[in-house]
Amino acid sequence: MEKTFVMIKPDAMQKSLAFEVFSRLEKAGLKPVAMKMLKLDDVNLDVHYAHHADKSFFNDLKTFMKESPVIASVWEGENAVTKVRELIGATNPEQASAGTVRHDYGENIQRNLVHASDGPDTAKEEIGRFFNENEVINW
Ligand code: ATP
Ligand code: MG
Repeated sequence: MEKTFVMIKPDAMQKSLAFEVFSRLEKAGLKPVAMKMLKLDDVNLDVHYAHHADKSFFNDLKTFMKESPVIASVWEGENAVTKVRELIGATNPEQASAGTVRHDYGENIQRNLVHASDGPDTAKEEIGRFFNENEVINW
């Protein structure tokens, strides 16, 4: 079964929306197989957002991601990667479809509540970066 990596960002933590997001994933038939709360640092973020390292918003993005703890998680299900991306919506909440998390609660393109892997290969990489093998539970 496909797995994907989902991270509740600091804005969602501040708005008490972490479990609203997780509830939507559960209702869509996805199963949690790993979860942990942590505070990100520059080492994590330089890797996680390496694709944005040359962007003007990179430092702002890192500051935002360090505002509060985050919850890192792994979800399993058929087409888990695509399913979660659909539930979350477009990066910019203004462009996100009605009924998606980012449409319903996102503030702006940076404070968009949740990260989700954008493909199966990225998912494997991100899961491996945040979790040891024995922290991902088969059930
Ligand atoms: P995520 O990777 O968090 O799931 P995404 O895949 O929809 O989001 P990416 O292009 O990977 O979008 O960007 C990662 C994150 O960087 C975005 O979710 C957002 O928080 C931030 N970001 C992207 N573009 C901008 C921008 N133009 N200005 C500010 N922040 C941005
Ligand atoms: Mg992305």
